[in-house]
Order: sequence, then structure tokens, then C-alpha cells
Amino acid sequence: MTRRRFAFAPWRLRESPTPNRFRATCLTCLEPSPDVTSGGVAQQWCLEHAGRTWHTAYEVAMVGQFEASLTDASGQ
Ligand SMILES: [Zn+2]
Repeated sequence: MTRRRFAFAPWRLRESPTPNRFRATCLTCLEPSPDVTSGGVAQQWCLEHAGRTWHTAYEVAMVGQFEASLTDASGQ
């Protein structure tokens, strides 16, 4: 029989330095924008798409990342 010892360890969560990603989608024809790291670039894609197609409704998704780490690496 093997004995194991377990302990609770506190974790914290913080925002990753990885840049957020933005993707706009036209709600009329469902064409997606490229995946970009700037909200302004995603907005520019919407304006260019509107100028080209006269489609006027867009959805934008922003994705960020969190990183979890132990607050006390020794586990004590
Ligand atoms: Zn469209």
C-alpha cells in the first residue's frame, strides 16, 4: 500500500502579457475579419467591409488569457 500526502495550495490568477485578440464578424454575410491584436484594426476591417458591401451590423469577439500560479511555491 502506498501512502500519499496531499495539501491545499492557494492559487492566484493574473492577466497574461499575451496581447488580446480581436475578431469581427459581419452579421449579414458572416464574413470574419482576420484575427488581429488591435481593436482599431478590427474596427477598420468593419468600416472597409461596410464600404464594400453596405452591410452595417457586426459582432466583435475579444479573447484574452489568464495565467494561474501558486502563491506559495513551497506548498506550505
Ligand atoms: Zn458582410
